[in-house]
Amino acid sequence: MTTISGKAVSGGIAIGKLYYYNHKRGEPIQRLISDPEREVKRFYQARAVAISQIQQLYLKALQRVGEQPSLIFQVHQVMLEDMDFEDSIINIIRNEKTNAEYAVYRAAKQMSHMISTIDDPYLQERSADVIDSAYALMDALCGREIEENMEEGPVILAAYELMPSETLRLEQEQLLGFITNQGSINSHSAILARNMGVPAVAQIPEGLEKHNGETIVLNGLTGEVIFSPSDEALLQAKEQQKEYQREQELLKTQLGLENITKDGQSIKLLANINSVGDLSTVLQNEAEGIGLFRSEFLYFGKDRPPSEEEQFIVYRTMAKRMEGKRVIVRTLDIGADKQADYFNLPKEENPALGYRAIRMCLDRPDLFRTQLRAFYRASAYGNLSLMIPLVISVEEIRAVKRLIEHIKTELREEHKLFAEHVDFGVMIETPAAVMISDWLAKEVDFFCIGTNDLTQFTLAADRQNPKLESIYNSHHPAILRMIRMTADAIHKEGKWIGICGELAADTSLTETFLALGIDELSMSPSAILEVRKKVRSLNMSNREKILRELQ
Ligand code: PEP
Ligand code: MG
Repeated sequence: MTTISGKAVSGGIAIGKLYYYNHKRGEPIQRLISDPEREVKRFYQARAVAISQIQQLYLKALQRVGEQPSLIFQVHQVMLEDMDFEDSIINIIRNEKTNAEYAVYRAAKQMSHMISTIDDPYLQERSADVIDSAYALMDALCGREIEENMEEGPVILAAYELMPSETLRLEQEQLLGFITNQGSINSHSAILARNMGVPAVAQIPEGLEKHNGETIVLNGLTGEVIFSPSDEALLQAKEQQKEYQREQELLKTQLGLENITKDGQSIKLLANINSVGDLSTVLQNEAEGIGLFRSEFLYFGKDRPPSEEEQFIVYRTMAKRMEGKRVIVRTLDIGADKQADYFNLPKEENPALGYRAIRMCLDRPDLFRTQLRAFYRASAYGNLSLMIPLVISVEEIRAVKRLIEHIKTELREEHKLFAEHVDFGVMIETPAAVMISDWLAKEVDFFCIGTNDLTQFTLAADRQNPKLESIYNSHHPAILRMIRMTADAIHKEGKWIGICGELAADTSLTETFLALGIDELSMSPSAILEVRKKVRSLNMSNREKILRELQ
């Protein structure tokens, strides 16, 4: 038995088999499979995805660098379509009953070795291209790898690192928990784990692949992971699991109660979600609405952006299911750790400070218009609000408003239904937005503070970097003063403010938020009852003292 400590990023205790998901470039793990024909099908599906991605890369390269340097992508496509390569992969899958990724890797190695021995410098160079195109294929296969393999039964998923797009593809019923070598409490995969209500531990030293298939214990409360647990450790973990479930049950006594302090101050508690699949937990936990729908999650797990119709259906479903309660749709915030391959965004040195969110939307009106049209059409079916991420200027807001006016005119001409007034807000996630919050307040109906990004930009501390966790401190007086400044600016205009970063669920600050007059807090649905309990335990007699400390 070995116990290793990592970073607890999502509460709960999981006991189960570890499944190692290998998406790092290198030799994929060979797995024996019972149904080779299913692997063959996976190979063909992945090849179609990889080819379409390579075609897009070719077109993009053609525009940027011209014909000659772009030809490499055509060479890659020819390789993926090569019949000998295809036969060789299928033979390996069928004869050795092995997984498709491993078969692709083996076939590519064989082919590249064969080419490299031919006495022709041009062909020798092509041997590296075989490996490169095989990796494109393996990447496309990886997208499906998790789901396919988890059909065997629920597992604890281990990986070097999980991207939000990968996390989202997982079938929740098949997941007992996550362990990663990388990651931090504020990375989007950790946020997702909390949203799914699945225990997770990050920052476990490398070597997880050695434990593939073993039963382990994962404690998302303490950050401990036990490999080869003794019978006694297993028994103890089962007890802790029961205790955790008991506590969760106890929280249910908060159901049906109001979010109001002992002396009568109330605050709204809403939910952050990433997909319509989360709506049932939202309703079970009595959220007063959706305070943040991270719409970028609609763009993951696809080989193209979602169409207007696809988005319309999602927004309309939320509007209808929430029956008049507010649903805030945040416009596309792709970039940084949230990537979708088909955008083919160039690699950036500082992606969090890069081409993302509203910057990208204003630069790609085709993309943004589709989202706004879908949103406005859905606005006829409930209480939808629109929110813009990563704002730094009044000009950005005005540019969005101009686009909205065009879209409304278009919809009117097409005799499509939409709500004439939709509450329009901005996320306060940058120090720039805080410093001009008095100007921004005149332009919008509400503010919502994204403390995750606001902390990283104010303290110059990457929210993803595990080494900076002691520096990345959302309780820093600079952050609390910024919250105060922003709240004062919007209240002066008689408008409202929410917090939808992870700090919203931090019960050690609930009293401060109430003292500052924050109107709503939006968090993972599973955190709502705990915060309700805290609100109900408070008496706001310390308000003046708290405010003085934040002067
Ligand atoms: C935030 O930055 O606080 C926020 C809520 O947005 P995200 O976590 O999606 O960046
Ligand atoms: Mg953010």
